Amino acid sequence: MASAGKLNTFRLPPLPTIREIIKLFKLQALKQLSQNFLLDLRLTDKIVRKAGNLNNAYVYEVGPGPGGITRSILNANVAELLVVEKDTRFIPGLQMLCDAAPGKLRIVHGDVLTFKVEKAFPESLRRRWEDEPPNVHIIGNLPFSVSTPLIVKWLGNVSRRDGPFAYGRTQMTLSFQKEVADRLTANTGSKQRSRLSIMAQHLCSVQHVFTIPGKAFIPKPEVDVGVVHFTPLVQPTIQQPFELVEKVVQNVFQFRRKYCYRGLGMLFPEAQRSENTGKLLQLADVDPTLRPCQLALSHFKALCDVYRKMCDEDPSLFAYNFRQELKQSKSRGQEESGGL
Ligand code: SAM
Repeated sequence: MASAGKLNTFRLPPLPTIREIIKLFKLQALKQLSQNFLLDLRLTDKIVRKAGNLNNAYVYEVGPGPGGITRSILNANVAELLVVEKDTRFIPGLQMLCDAAPGKLRIVHGDVLTFKVEKAFPESLRRRWEDEPPNVHIIGNLPFSVSTPLIVKWLGNVSRRDGPFAYGRTQMTLSFQKEVADRLTANTGSKQRSRLSIMAQHLCSVQHVFTIPGKAFIPKPEVDVGVVHFTPLVQPTIQQPFELVEKVVQNVFQFRRKYCYRGLGMLFPEAQRSENTGKLLQLADVDPTLRPCQLALSHFKALCDVYRKMCDEDPSLFAYNFRQELKQSKSRGQEESGGL
């Protein structure tokens, strides 16, 4: 019997190295799936340490591949680790880890873009949004092509408090192409400030926790990799629907080198563009000659709040799309000139 107060810790038994697993199961990285593996367990341990205290945690690992990060998570004394992997070739190697950690590892062959993690862990883990984050964590080193659409989807879930955030303010530790990590964490005024900076930072506390040099991966990608930690905020800076914030932010950044009024104008039909853009900027108290990267979160909050009021006053406004208007006026012009 364990003595009182003694920690019940788990360590994996000795296993073949990740390099040996790759050889044993012939797991050559597939270029079309942008697979790059981490073989150095000191680095995978570091990623897992940056996720926070995982003692008794329920962890969802996206894209475990040959299982380097998976091993580090299991060694962090978690209650349960659920991994979702798309490529069947990795399943036998993961099964070996499952056998080495009885009752701890659940393997799902599936796609992280569609997997419903909100049904995967016990209901008892759920916390109120205002409470401390639940003991549920998401960790992953995904291909760059998946990590950006996935974080945008998850930010939408944070905003609606559904999906992985049905448990509360679930924390995420994910890797991105360094340039994307820089955008996610860019401050006001920085060159990297972009749509992703606003979408992430108005909903989460976002930290670029460390950079992994490309040479640490097999095969080596063209770029370095940034590991980013996200904790959803109790109170989002902008309290408007995700799609509305996305629309305002997208419009502002589409002309990133111009003054902000240029992109904001595209929120409005041409006939009232100048008048409505002036009204939006004035009511939001935003200087029209600020460049998109100079706008702080407080500016975006004010712009979204005023735009919301304008949409409430004119329910057709939110559906307005300037590209459609442009296309229609072009085809009208062609018809007219063809008819001459
Ligand atoms: N985590 C491993 C590591 O760090 O060595 C593998 C990283 S590799 C960059 C990305 C992994 O994600 C691969 O195993 C790949 O098959 C898997 N993957 C890619 N797209 C996926 C998707 N949509 N759903 C689940 N897994 C995916």
